[in-house]
Amino acid sequence: MRFISALAAVSLTTLGLTAPAYAHPGAEQVSGSTASGYGGAIATVDATATAAGLEVLRRGGNAVDAAVAAAATLGVTEPFASGIGGGGFFVYYDARKQRVYTIDGRETGPATMTPTYFVNPATGLPYVFDEARVSGLSVGVPGTLATWESAAKQWGTRPLGSALSTAAEVADRGYTVDGEFRRQVTENAAAFGQFDASKALYLPGGAPPAIGTTIKNPDLAATYRQIARQGTGAFYRGAIGRDLLRTVAQPAVSSSPTSPWAYPIRPGVLTARDLAAYQVRHPAPTRSDFKGLSVYGMSTPSSGGTAVGEALNILEASPLDSATTVDKLHYYLEASALSFADRGRYVGAYTAPSVLKDLISDRWAKGRACAIDPKKALAKPVAPGPGCTPATAAAAPDNGMSTTNLTVADKWGNVVEYTLTLEQFGGNGMVVPGRGFMLNNELTDFNFTGTQGTAPDPNLPGPGKRPRSSMSPTIVLKDGKPFLATGAPGGSTIITTVLQILVNRLELGMTLPQAVAAPRAAQRNTAGIQAEPAFHTTYGPELTARGHVFAADAPEIGAATAIEFTRHGGQLAVAEPVRRGSGSAAVVHPAS
Ligand code: GLU
Repeated sequence: MRFISALAAVSLTTLGLTAPAYAHPGAEQVSGSTASGYGGAIATVDATATAAGLEVLRRGGNAVDAAVAAAATLGVTEPFASGIGGGGFFVYYDARKQRVYTIDGRETGPATMTPTYFVNPATGLPYVFDEARVSGLSVGVPGTLATWESAAKQWGTRPLGSALSTAAEVADRGYTVDGEFRRQVTENAAAFGQFDASKALYLPGGAPPAIGTTIKNPDLAATYRQIARQGTGAFYRGAIGRDLLRTVAQPAVSSSPTSPWAYPIRPGVLTARDLAAYQVRHPAPTRSDFKGLSVYGMSTPSSGGTAVGEALNILEASPLDSATTVDKLHYYLEASALSFADRGRYVGAYTAPSVLKDLISDRWAKGRACAIDPKKALAKPVAPGPGCTPATAAAAPDNGMSTTNLTVADKWGNVVEYTLTLEQFGGNGMVVPGRGFMLNNELTDFNFTGTQGTAPDPNLPGPGKRPRSSMSPTIVLKDGKPFLATGAPGGSTIITTVLQILVNRLELGMTLPQAVAAPRAAQRNTAGIQAEPAFHTTYGPELTARGHVFAADAPEIGAATAIEFTRHGGQLAVAEPVRRGSGSAAVVHPAS
């Protein structure tokens, strides 16, 4: 997202990235969105994070070491979409064991959480989204730090402290505000403006920072260093955690907010016991087979693995072989809608494994594929399965467009696909005073009230429950070896973005850079498709003629990252060329 700043470059000089910042082999590529070569590859949304991960790979670290280093750096330079106040999902292919593992670092709700947690007791009505978001209520126990620790301990070769210390340097020396960063602050100015600690960092002089200015975060540097010295107990059971809990219980509302806020800022109920009890989970990855490839994804509490897997299975059960591009897009949109209907009805943190298995079975997909008419779009929303009942059901509400994603591979063939988030850009709007990191609002990913009519809703709040996610870090194997890895940000469009990249690459004959760059459209079982303008212009007329309906265009959907494993050990790293101000891809040894 941001080009490396002069100050960050100075910081990275200490790592061997001498000024000018791209002087060593491979590092010159951190400013590009595509890099091909071998010896290790990385793609993130941010050049500083990519450079940090690349440096670890260059020095013999593995993909997990590099992913943790890049993520810790993103916590500094992408503070509104990631960081130790949030959570995420980490998918790892271990080359030696030839197996895919996952870490569920999703935030958890308080032990006292009930299904009516987001219903205002005074009115009996659910809170308005922003009222729930900018509050202590929306904050789940963060899982990001525990994810890094778990990954580093199980599969890494370097202590977590080394990634934190390096990222602390970036926080101390600062990074440069670009247009995208300023846009994210501007979008959040009213929320940030309610809290002195958020204002002090991100609204200098009461307004969003000017492009080109430097943001330093010495509080975050000190927090990272304290954790590096004392371990993650300082966060989950110590002084940092106490400060977090205080901010949740007594939001430090400014006596001089920069603008009015329409809602009361409510306290939350997280306890020290909730924080201390936090543990990452290691669910088995989801697996679906698509045309001879094995597609591994994230299981519950994310719906990403089952939703992407089910849609791919529906596509595999559809007559695509001699189909045109528009036919294939028609099937892509229909498969996505059907899969979203099933996600809404069946998938939540506690969905039984047998139900998940059913959802990504070929048998289920065959039953759903029969609903698709090759020439006419189904009326949306469609009903959940099994089978292809044409009745409609209520659409699930949408969520935000934030989050960040990174993809890393090393020279041994290990691969990491990692998506992390605070939920909305800027989470709940609160920087923990004196600690420099922002809190998540992940609990607003629960449905505030039932969405499934008389059927039970699998994503209502509950004690210690994790909200359903759409994050879809995905690793595709061919003959048991990595073929492609990808993931994306974007709320529930994460699922459609990952699916569309796979369809572009595997069905539409695009190269990986083309598949990532191509204009996107998301059909999430809503009345209208949300599309980027270029998709709408190019395919809108023919798809509309088949009965598809387009909602208002989205300026952009999902800044993805990906790596493809090419012949003879080659690696092709791809980040967004344009979206979110463009990302940054690099390889250790660029192909000449
Ligand atoms: N909270 C969302 C999820 O877990 C991701 C946030 C976003 O990308 O807007 O699915």
